[in-house]
Amino acid sequence: MTTTHPRLPEPNPAGQWDVEELISAALRAMKNASVPLSRFRVGSAVLTSSGKIFEGCNTESLIPLLGVCAERNAVNHAIIHGEKSFLAVAVVSDLHAPLLPCGACLQYLQEFSRQEGRDILIVAQGRSGDRMITSVDELFRGGFPEETSVEEIQQSFRWTTD
Ligand SMILES: [Zn+2]
Repeated sequence: MTTTHPRLPEPNPAGQWDVEELISAALRAMKNASVPLSRFRVGSAVLTSSGKIFEGCNTESLIPLLGVCAERNAVNHAIIHGEKSFLAVAVVSDLHAPLLPCGACLQYLQEFSRQEGRDILIVAQGRSGDRMITSVDELFRGGFPEETSVEEIQQSFRWTTD
């Protein structure tokens, strides 16, 4: 079963993008998942507006809170290479059914999508081959309101001394 979403991302400057290539990159990254605790592997790949693909896998620590999801590792991989404009993110896992990004990853992704003023497509594929196609804004309706400026967010984190 494949469900489609009406709002597909605009083509990147290269003029095209291949969803199969993005899924393949996520599947390759999944093989490198470092999951000593859960043994639950997740792979992800982000497509940037410059047409590049950056992969990530989930990484666990013996201190569970230090683990990082595949999606955020993929985004951080792109950032390391100077890319932060994302069109799409693929997620694959050991689960039979498609696995969607967790709330923390959606929050993280949405901050980048808001900076660019456009939604980010999400393509999740399970081991069964079933795909779910959706988007960050479709799944995550919370977060900071769209009109919130970075300055306002910074101010809300500021310590007060009075
Ligand atoms: Zn996550």
